[in-house]
Amino acid sequence: MAETLTGGCGCGAIRYESTGDPIVAFNCHCRACQQYTGSGFVASTLVPSATFKIVKGAVREYKTTGENGGEIFRGFCENCGSPIATRLARLPQVVGIPAGSMDDPSYHKPTMDLFVRDVQPWDCMNAALKKIETFPPQRSD
Ligand SMILES: [Zn+2]
Ligand SMILES: [Zn+2]
Repeated sequence: MAETLTGGCGCGAIRYESTGDPIVAFNCHCRACQQYTGSGFVASTLVPSATFKIVKGAVREYKTTGENGGEIFRGFCENCGSPIATRLARLPQVVGIPAGSMDDPSYHKPTMDLFVRDVQPWDCMNAALKKIETFPPQRSD
């Protein structure tokens, strides 16, 4: 039985709920994720889109295109700017949830660092996590 994940943005306008089991969790250090978060990386847990829902408010999105041509729709709250949910055009079955938006951010249990190529000198990574130069294997198509 999956534990229900709840969370939302900083101003409270947006709330979400996810009842499915998390699929994978990672920290992505690519430049686009740095811009999305205003920090060194996005801590993202992928959950099934079928069991994820916005229960309050509306998410706005902007689009970035990865180096592999994959389109990424980065959701945020238009009032406070908090990152909320990310959709990948090539993986419509998942939604990426930024750990900081979770009511309990310890739900995020990353297993790998992505785009370590773009890690900033002031960004300290957990040595125990698998290091991947750019894309994870399943997204390198
Ligand atoms: Zn907000
Ligand atoms: Zn990234």
